[in-house]
Amino acid sequence: MDVMDSFQGMFDKGVAAVKGTVSGVAVEMLPFMQGFVRLCTDGWEQGWHERNGGNLTYRMTDEDVRSSQSFFYEQPSSWMPMGVQADNLRGAFFAVTGAGRFMRNVQLDVAHNVGIVEINGAGDAWRIVWGLRDGGLPTSEFPSHFMIHSVRMQATGGASRVLYHAHPENVIALTKVMPLSSREFTRALWKAMTECIIVFPKGVGVVEWMVPGGADIARATSELMKTYDACIWASHGLFASGPDFDMTFGLMHTIEKAAGIHVKALMLNGGSSDFPNTITDDGLRAIVQELNLPVNEAFLS
Ligand SMILES: [Zn+2]
Repeated sequence: MDVMDSFQGMFDKGVAAVKGTVSGVAVEMLPFMQGFVRLCTDGWEQGWHERNGGNLTYRMTDEDVRSSQSFFYEQPSSWMPMGVQADNLRGAFFAVTGAGRFMRNVQLDVAHNVGIVEINGAGDAWRIVWGLRDGGLPTSEFPSHFMIHSVRMQATGGASRVLYHAHPENVIALTKVMPLSSREFTRALWKAMTECIIVFPKGVGVVEWMVPGGADIARATSELMKTYDACIWASHGLFASGPDFDMTFGLMHTIEKAAGIHVKALMLNGGSSDFPNTITDDGLRAIVQELNLPVNEAFLS
């Protein structure tokens, strides 16, 4: 065998290897998947995703599906019933993080930690068409995500596409000491930092502690998400929705930062929320008027 023969052999092996992995590489390069992966990495770097904590789903556009479907499995998984149903999500495609997979690892191996699932024509079952390699399944919170996607889609005229669940520590800490009321939490967060009422003028919902992954927490959260873009789960974490990855990550980030400021102010003030200086309700109303915000009036005094 001469040098060129061995080079040709190496080249053939290289081509075979590339062909064998091309589906993973190609989907990973698509803009929607790059945005998905970046959010997972950003959330990990914020410290919101210990172990396998948190999950992310994205309702793909027709263009996302067109650009990725040539890489879908020839043999998708079998249909898995969800126990919930949504007419407006019949035939939809979602990018999803995997059950038991770690946000920390997403950027290192997308096809192992993330998948694409297709929803059936009845809108009540999924099957895996890409990724989640090595026997992966969609996040155990997928039925919750699915119901909330349906609600958010209706509430936003189809604009909402991203649902992100994380375990940010200041939000969780506040659920230990504050009344578990959407109004109380929203007012504390609005007053923590001027930007907040601009970022979430509808407020933030609060769900009392419940067993995760079940139908009850899915129902309670989707009921609140008819009104709110984000919802706090007591002693658990935060759910945020948005039209794209930037807006959704930004909402999560803003709420957690405001919660951190409120925690620090409480500590500096001996545990009392009767702060010497804060934003007044008149101040909040002035921001609303200046920027013509669709504010939740019931949360202003
Ligand atoms: Zn969680």
